[in-house]
Amino acid sequence: MTATDPTAADPGTQADLRLHVDALAEAGRGAGVFDDHHPPSDELISDCVHCGFCLPTCPTYALWGEEMDSPRGRIYLMKLGKEGAVEMDDTYAQHFDACLGCMACVTACPSGVQYDQLIEAVRPQLERNHRRGLLDRLFRGLIFSLFPYPSRLRVAAVLGELYRRLGLRSLAHRTGAVRLLPRRLQAVEALMPPAKLRHLATRTPAVTPAVGTMRRRVGFLTGCVQRVFFADVNQATVRVLTAEGCEVVAPPTQRCCGALSEHAGREPEALDRARALIDAFAEVEVDTIVANVAGCGSTLKEYGRMLRDDAVYAERAAAFSAKVRDVSELLAELGPVAPRHPIEARVAYHDACHLGHAQGVRSQPREVLGTIPGLQVTDIPEAEICCGSAGIYNLVNPEPAEELGRRKVEHVLSVAPDALATANPGCLLQIRRYWPGDLPMFHPVELLDASIRGVDPVTARGGRGRPSLDARTAEPGTF
Ligand code: SF4
Ligand code: SF4
Repeated sequence: MTATDPTAADPGTQADLRLHVDALAEAGRGAGVFDDHHPPSDELISDCVHCGFCLPTCPTYALWGEEMDSPRGRIYLMKLGKEGAVEMDDTYAQHFDACLGCMACVTACPSGVQYDQLIEAVRPQLERNHRRGLLDRLFRGLIFSLFPYPSRLRVAAVLGELYRRLGLRSLAHRTGAVRLLPRRLQAVEALMPPAKLRHLATRTPAVTPAVGTMRRRVGFLTGCVQRVFFADVNQATVRVLTAEGCEVVAPPTQRCCGALSEHAGREPEALDRARALIDAFAEVEVDTIVANVAGCGSTLKEYGRMLRDDAVYAERAAAFSAKVRDVSELLAELGPVAPRHPIEARVAYHDACHLGHAQGVRSQPREVLGTIPGLQVTDIPEAEICCGSAGIYNLVNPEPAEELGRRKVEHVLSVAPDALATANPGCLLQIRRYWPGDLPMFHPVELLDASIRGVDPVTARGGRGRPSLDARTAEPGTF
């Protein structure tokens, strides 16, 4: 299946579209459902010519075959919302809540429809103008009271480790008690990553000098979940950047970049976080700002758009965004100077949606991995379809996320890798949740770091045993 072959899957018909629209329009109230603060633009909506080329790459259309859960259908719903032909009720909101924001449709669209800008306009409208159910509001409140705060995440990590090490987790799974939890809390329980307690006290140094001649002075975004649960990825990033001649500056005052809030339509919160991060990096003079989390990097590149109405920050935000690079982009641009040691392994590379689709960064991670002698980098079938992680999607929409996670795992298994590499912690956790066994998983920069240091990362993480397709019925969370 390719992104540009409209015959690869049934693209739906205009009659289907009309049928769904008529049903929704029955509840129409004759006035636009959006307020005046950046509603989805008529011009962008009218760019869609309803050709259906995007449909085969849309995960929700792939799962359900429903026109209104496709990019084309959602754009049509936006049009109806602007015309006042529908109400902003639960059904209307659900079609947008079901969208993963993976932006595969942006990659696939031959007409250049900017669905990313459209959905990013709709989500804050829903947050402002649609009242969710009480449990939904409480659950989302819990997520946003925890994830953007590394200090609270550290407490959660310690509790999670106690839950594991005291045998409570295995007891809950053995007795089936975990299945008594609501599905969303089951997802939280299953996705909570193991924490290395020694990493909880680790902080990225404010300044790490370049090894040898300095080629670039870079600012480094340490992330929230990343700095708590994936501190080793941050350490590897700093080692690789310095080995390649970068002085790495990590402002200690930096906080959450606002990516999760932005992707969930929590606009005021996202903008406050963006302003604070711009201020934090204003304290240091850097040529480039580096992110090693795909979802965060794509939001940093959007600060210019997000703060376009802010008289004080608009210009600074645009300048900030212009400096942002994913770590693989920077490394590919600089070219290698540090000697590499061979890693004899077959690694499946998973394109994180917010790196591949949202940032268009596909060749650079492969190019960077290609500098490692002996490493065989393999693509995964149906690579354009999201794994179901998508920020908080797998927590708030656990059922479709599970279907997508299992589907991704089958495709990874089909290429029989020794290890998996991807540049987003959410993807690592999602794929690991459904993986039947212990697949060593890496951020690409960890493989580069291992090659520069001369260690075998796959064996070090207990790899070399390849689970077979027969193992794919394993229960979620049994890794
Ligand atoms: S979003 Fe693009 S690919 Fe999809 S139906 Fe519209 S014009 Fe066609
Ligand atoms: S962003 Fe992803 S889930 Fe949403 S409409 Fe586009 S392809 Fe479908």
